[in-house]
Amino acid sequence: GLDLVPAADSPQKAKDYTSDQEVRWCPGCGDYAVLAAVRAFLPTLSIRRENTVFVSGIGCSSRFPYYLDTYGMHSIHGRAPAIATGLAVSRPDLSVFVVTGDGDALSIGGNHLIHALRRNVNMTILLFNNRIYGLTKGQYSPTSEVGKVTKSTPVGSVDHPFDPVALALGADATFVGRAMDSDRKGLSAVLEAAARHRGAALVEIYQDCPIFNDGSFDVLRRPDDAEARVIPVRHGEPITFGTDGRWAVVRRGFGLDVAPTAEVAPEDVVVHDATDVGLAHALARLSGQDLGHAVFGVIRQVQRPTYDDLSRAQVQQAAAGGPADLRELVHGADTW
Ligand code: SF4
Ligand code: MG
Repeated sequence: GLDLVPAADSPQKAKDYTSDQEVRWCPGCGDYAVLAAVRAFLPTLSIRRENTVFVSGIGCSSRFPYYLDTYGMHSIHGRAPAIATGLAVSRPDLSVFVVTGDGDALSIGGNHLIHALRRNVNMTILLFNNRIYGLTKGQYSPTSEVGKVTKSTPVGSVDHPFDPVALALGADATFVGRAMDSDRKGLSAVLEAAARHRGAALVEIYQDCPIFNDGSFDVLRRPDDAEARVIPVRHGEPITFGTDGRWAVVRRGFGLDVAPTAEVAPEDVVVHDATDVGLAHALARLSGQDLGHAVFGVIRQVQRPTYDDLSRAQVQQAAAGGPADLRELVHGADTW
């Protein structure tokens, strides 16, 4: 999240956010598309480049900060949210972004991620999900599907995977979105909404790793398959999808289901409400890990006081009270 600072002299073009570093991802990696989208939307935010920080952990996507001409930190495995929390609390003038992957954020960094989200620290988290460990050459990750055959699971993984969107909702994150690397328009829209959100924003980005997990999202990319699977949602709009909106999302029991729009009464088509946490959970469940359906867009967005604002207010209040009396502090506490 960020506070919009009028900055007439802020850089206006993607090239102004492009560093002199050579980009070293594999040819065809989905990370290129995300980098291009981020370079293009940053100038539209009216923030100063020098007030922008990208903190990453460890992994392929965590090379991101090198390629942006902003401040950045390639930090430690899984701990980017903790470092970003320190920055966000101590420097309210900064716009803080975290770049992480499915291994970095959900395995070793699982704790850091959920606590940053529940505390609602003012930061925008880009979670690149390629459902594999790419940097270490192809081990199964916390989002790999059951039965995944990799170098570390030669006869197939028996682990049940995380759904990052469902996990973030479980942590009561105030902004949860999903995007696809190859969908430049949708990706840019979700990233920009996340960046403008005040509080912790998590965007899961489905990202292709053609080297170690080739084609993992093909079912959502091939037009014929995507037709009945890719569900874009927009706040306030009925959820229909496919050619001419031929499919609709409807309520079924406590959850959601998909039906041909022609067979559904218009009033039974679910209207997306990003403030409705029950609907957000149901949309996450509709997505599922098997990619039978995949919901894209801003799935949840609500306002809640941020951790950084609340903790800064406490510090200011304490400072306004004058110097502390150490003796009173010690003797005033009976248990000591
Ligand atoms: Fe991208 Fe996969 Fe190569 Fe990593 S290993 S740079 S995720 S293609
Ligand atoms: Mg990964």
